Order: sequence, then C-alpha cells, then structure tokens
Amino acid sequence: MLKGKTALVTGSTSGIGLAIARALAADGADLMINGFGDKAAIEKERAGLEKDFGIKARYSAADMSKPAEIADMVRAAEKEFGRLDVLVNNAGIQHVANIEDFPIEKWDAIIAINLSSSFHTIRTALPGMQKRKWGRIINIASAHGLVASAQKGAYIAAKHVLVGLTKTVAIENANNGITCNAICPGWVLTPLVQQQVDARAKAQNISVEQAKVTLVSEKQPMHEFTKPENIGALAVFLASDAAASMTGSAYSIDGGWVAQ
Ligand code: NAD
Repeated sequence: MLKGKTALVTGSTSGIGLAIARALAADGADLMINGFGDKAAIEKERAGLEKDFGIKARYSAADMSKPAEIADMVRAAEKEFGRLDVLVNNAGIQHVANIEDFPIEKWDAIIAINLSSSFHTIRTALPGMQKRKWGRIINIASAHGLVASAQKGAYIAAKHVLVGLTKTVAIENANNGITCNAICPGWVLTPLVQQQVDARAKAQNISVEQAKVTLVSEKQPMHEFTKPENIGALAVFLASDAAASMTGSAYSIDGGWVAQ
C-alpha cells in the first residue's frame, strides 16, 4: 500500500517507534528513522530495514528537544527522498513524581520532547504535504492523552495537548488531502514501561513478574500488554488510502482502559 511513499518516525530506535518503522517499511515505505542509542545497533537496524524490506532507510540523530535540529531532520528527509508523505511523531520520555516534587528540568524536557517536537515536525512538513495534496500525520499520544493518573503530570499535560493539536491540524488541513490522527496506546512493554515495572517491584518488594501483572491490571480490564507490532499495524492503516476520511480522532489501543 505504501510503495512509493516516504515516512519519518521520530524516536524509532526502540519500542513502539521501531515497530511502527518496521511496519511501514514492510508495507513499502522508504524511511527516515530517528532516536538515541548505541551507534552500531542503530546502523544494524537501519541496514536491516533495507535488507529485510527492500526499501531505502536513512537515520537522523536529531534531538527532539531542539527545534532547529527537528526542522533540519524534516528537511533532510524531504531532500533525501524528494518528499515526505507520512510523519509519525512518536519520541517520548516519562518521569514519575508528585507535582510539588516534579523537577523543573524534567517538566521542560517532557513538554519539549513529548509535545513541542510534534509542533516542530508538523509545521515543517506541512507545506510540502499541502503542495502535493497528500499527507498522513500520526501522533503517538497515550491513554494518558484521554484520562489522567497520579504522578505523571508533565506526561499527561503533554499527551492531552497533543490530542488537541491533532484536532487542529486535522481541521486546518481537512481539504488538503492530509489527515492527522492520534494513537492512544495503553500499556506496552517497552524500555519506557520496564523502568516503571522495575520501580514498582522495588517499592512494593514484589517480583518483576508480579509488578507487570499489578501495573497492567490496575488500569486495564484486559490484563495484557499491547504488542508494539499491533500499534505498527494501526499506523499503517491510518497511513493508507482506506483511512482517507479518518481525521482529527484519537484511536485507543488500550485493552479497554478508557472504556471504563
Ligand atoms: P522507548 O523508551 O522504548 O522509546 C522512546 C524512543 O524515543 C527511543 O527511540 C528514544 O531514543 C527516543 N527519544 C527519547 N528522547 C529523544 C530525544 N530527545 N530525541 C530523539 N529521540 C528521543 O518508549 P516507547 O514506550 O516505545 O514510547 C514511544 C511513544 O509511545 C512515546 O511517545 C510514549 O509516550 C508512547 N506511549 C508508550 C506507551 C507504553 O506503554 N510503552 C503507552 C502509551 C504511549
């Protein structure tokens, strides 16, 4: 479905972003990946995408907390592939603390990486998409973009606003052939969540396996993690022509979390 299209996925060296990158590549899209990590491991992943799926893959080391680097990354993708059709804003971090104890620098970093980076990628990518009258923007929000939990004030603020930004971008571009949607996952067992599992196991003096079960079942009627590949499949669908009129929405993939 995506042969001849090009995509950029922020934060795609790990977890959900990596699964989305692989799903888009499997569907034929050329890709720019981005994120932090071990240089050799990233190069292995990039080369693997090309080898496994017969597409072109490039890597940008842009830091999603730096507006100038973000704009340069989008322009580099356009230059490299001649166009940017699918933009997935996925990079994200977490910090857990009560508001009165929340470190100011953590607040600023979460707002910059989980929210403002999407403004910067979108504002840079839109003119090209508008000219070509085709674009797909997918923002990886969270169940925490729709409902709140304690101790995640910055993350929840960022994800709620990201869902709001999704709606505005969709409305402004409704007749430009461009859609903008948010995906709202529940628990997905990635390094970001493993940290929370480990902290819970330590704090409650329980095993890591027990901590996984209590973490998920506290929030989700379905006591299972969502697989990163399933989020990749949803992103591919939202990028397809079949989803041409789906815009401005937040799609939950969360084991029933926000149905309650
Ligand atoms: P992860 O830690 O596995 O991956 C995060 C990615 O973002 C990595 O590639 C990392 O290098 C990159 N990144 C972090 N800071 C960056 C920066 N400043 N510049 C560039 N890249 C940066 O986490 P994940 O769980 O895969 O999370 C991906 C997205 O999914 C996040 O936006 C997260 O909020 C969201 N999400 C995750 C879950 C979950 O349960 N794991 C649930 C809902 C939403």
